[in-house]
Amino acid sequence: GPTFFLYPRILEEIFAACGHDLHAEVELIRLDPLYELVFEGGGRLPASGDPDRLASAVAAFCPRDAANLPRYMADNRAKLDAFRPILERPFTHVAEYLRPTVLRALPAMRPLSTVERDLARYFSDERVRLAFSFQSKYLGMSPFRCPSLFTILAFMEHEYGIWHPRGGCGAVIDAMARVARGMGVRIHLDDPVQEVLVEDGRARGLRFADRTERYDALFINADFAHAMTTLVPDSARRRWTDRRIARKSFSCSTFMLYLGIEGRIDTLGHHTIVLADEYRRNIAEIEAGRAPPGRPSFYVHNASVTDPTLAPPGHSTLYVLIPVGHNRPEGPDWIAERARYRRLALDRLAALGIEDLERRIRFEQVITPLEWERDMAIHKGATFNLAHSLDQMLMFRPHNRFDDIDGVYLVGGGTHPGSGLPTIFESARISARLAADDLGLDIPAGIAMPARPPRLEPAIMEAL
Ligand SMILES: Cc1cc2nc3c(=O)[nH]c(=O)nc-3n(C[C@H](O)[C@H](O)[C@H](O)COP(=O)(O)OP(=O)(O)OC[C@H]3O[C@@H](n4cnc5c(N)ncnc54)[C@H](O)[C@@H]3O)c2cc1C
Repeated sequence: GPTFFLYPRILEEIFAACGHDLHAEVELIRLDPLYELVFEGGGRLPASGDPDRLASAVAAFCPRDAANLPRYMADNRAKLDAFRPILERPFTHVAEYLRPTVLRALPAMRPLSTVERDLARYFSDERVRLAFSFQSKYLGMSPFRCPSLFTILAFMEHEYGIWHPRGGCGAVIDAMARVARGMGVRIHLDDPVQEVLVEDGRARGLRFADRTERYDALFINADFAHAMTTLVPDSARRRWTDRRIARKSFSCSTFMLYLGIEGRIDTLGHHTIVLADEYRRNIAEIEAGRAPPGRPSFYVHNASVTDPTLAPPGHSTLYVLIPVGHNRPEGPDWIAERARYRRLALDRLAALGIEDLERRIRFEQVITPLEWERDMAIHKGATFNLAHSLDQMLMFRPHNRFDDIDGVYLVGGGTHPGSGLPTIFESARISARLAADDLGLDIPAGIAMPARPPRLEPAIMEAL
């Protein structure tokens, strides 16, 4: 999935803690422009990482909004500074809210506002606001509902850059595996877990097709709701029961078209985001999820213009992502819709000026929400996990030290701090430190871990 590699700092620190240099393991290329926004209603906005070039691109839409860019950047720099300590520590206990760092950060979060409303304080032109709010889709959310805290997403792109790992984001994961194996880690692939074995409230091991194994601690990285509802017996969960999970709200899903094509498309940059003329209607269609959006916004990844290693000589890759609703009983039948939506994706590319694409296709793969759920083990095909509404964040997201089952730690988009690569790397770091603390292992220098809080009565936890 991922193509935008953001905020390398967390992974730099993780590699350094393992005695390695991220940049020696993976070549990270900083992109400029970060991406180009194409407004269907007219206009293109190349979002440069250079403040002056960005200001002149925004001024072409609204000079007053361009003048407000420095204020937007300064306010969001302060917001991220205030919020960073919250993102970097576990939220395992209600008392976490009373920590001075948290109390100081809460007003900066403007908890009652949304991304769209917050941006209206800086930008009057709707297209300029979109250039700083479409990032809510990284969390699978609408900017009209996404908590205002997440204006930091666009800020982070402008402040810290958008990077392309040579070879694609998979090259980062390969590098992590290489380093881990070098440290003695054994990685078993194509070996699905069939059940988490729980005895007396504690996870003791895993059952595979051909064996069971016993462990001191378990990290669950599979999609949270999928793993709980398929691998852990309902009766073994104190709080996150099937009934509770069914009441939660989930992110959107995506329709994907992956193409290997003959030749290269030089008229399109590395990342292009096409924003539908009726953006609000598009968002409402995604949220309702009853039918695939009629005239959707979409994203095109044309990374071969930066990185020729992605395809054989004379060829290139193209990836089209269309946000759509997650699976639900009243939702579309993706078996029936698949061919029609593929056609729609190709027609939308043609409207971007890429007209002779079909005859150049040499490889093709389509993934709909159906495949995300059935083949990739993602609950409801909700690719960005549990929604990131305030009632499902921090303390209210499944905790890194999973308090339903002793000895289980969560990693990934379904736990704190949330979805997206830098965030899930942070979740891994938080969970690793908690486990090291519980197992009495040395904790690398960094954030001190709080003492284990008393377990709250199940009834209180349920109420929370
Ligand atoms: C189309 C798309 C585009 C995205 N774009 C970006 C982007 O540009 N930038 C960004 O930062 N983020 C992006 N994201 C989000 C990012 O990819 C996710 O947040 C991240 O991959 C989530 O990591 P995770 O560890 O939670 O889950 P995953 O990466 O889904 O890993 C879970 C793993 O668990 C495995 N698993 C499941 N069940 C079992 C089982 N029973 N036994 C063994 N293994 C199992 C799965 O096979 C999978 O490998 C994108 C996501 C998608 C889908």
